[in-house]
Amino acid sequence: TLRVDGVRKSFGDNQVLRGVSFDIHRHEVVTLLGPSGSGKSTLMRCINLLEQVDDGQIWLNGTDISDPRINADRTRSRIGVVFQQFNLFPHMDVLKNVTLGAIKVHGISKDDAQERAMTLLRRIGMEDKAHTYPDQLSGGQQQRVAIARSLMTEPELLLLDEITSALDPMLVGEVLQMVQELKDQGTTILMATHEMQFAHDAADRVILLQDGEIAENGTPQEVMHDSQNPRTREFFSHFR
Ligand code: ATP
Ligand code: MG
Repeated sequence: TLRVDGVRKSFGDNQVLRGVSFDIHRHEVVTLLGPSGSGKSTLMRCINLLEQVDDGQIWLNGTDISDPRINADRTRSRIGVVFQQFNLFPHMDVLKNVTLGAIKVHGISKDDAQERAMTLLRRIGMEDKAHTYPDQLSGGQQQRVAIARSLMTEPELLLLDEITSALDPMLVGEVLQMVQELKDQGTTILMATHEMQFAHDAADRVILLQDGEIAENGTPQEVMHDSQNPRTREFFSHFR
């Protein structure tokens, strides 16, 4: 379980997160929606310890990971992260890209890392690409490799920040299909996205952020169709 409790974060006098609280239960898929600038990425960066919260706590399965005294690398190995940009190293083949962090940061042996990487690549039908370089792959394939990499440490939580936004529309489907498969395997996921149909169909729950506050937190039906809040209705009206 992830528990975000009263999290506040400002950059200078810009209050980006104004007391954000919610839980994500094991095996749950939650999509995080909200206008540009509402604080989705900042929230995810706080959860992944790329930013330090000003106030509040973040608990992951019983550990207060927002406590500055804890080991950040160890916490990060418990949380998989994929961003919009693929962030694969162009001068390394797929296998090296997938294994590097696990070996260098998380202390997994090279043999174990390679075995695990090949299992993950097999699962996404890309084992024949292990020695291919990123520029030989489609954007969708690159993003699937980035997701495979994020799974190397068997994370307790997967954070996906607009992972399809930079993709050619033709390639969005294969990446969302992979997210759906992870969901079916029981992966716990928090996903910021502008893919409203996917958010509706794949999510157990939808959280809507507006101006750094949680405006809605409920089932896709409750939030995207039934809400009577005028600002919520206004937000979703742009996607109909
Ligand atoms: P988008 O849908 O465009 O990705 P978002 O909801 O992810 O938007 P954030 O990236 O979290 O929004 O940004 C929220 C606010 O925080 C913005 O006003 C942004 O300018 C500000 N911000 C984010 N990161 C920083 C930073 N490192 N330094 C200063 N301001 C920042
Ligand atoms: Mg963002």
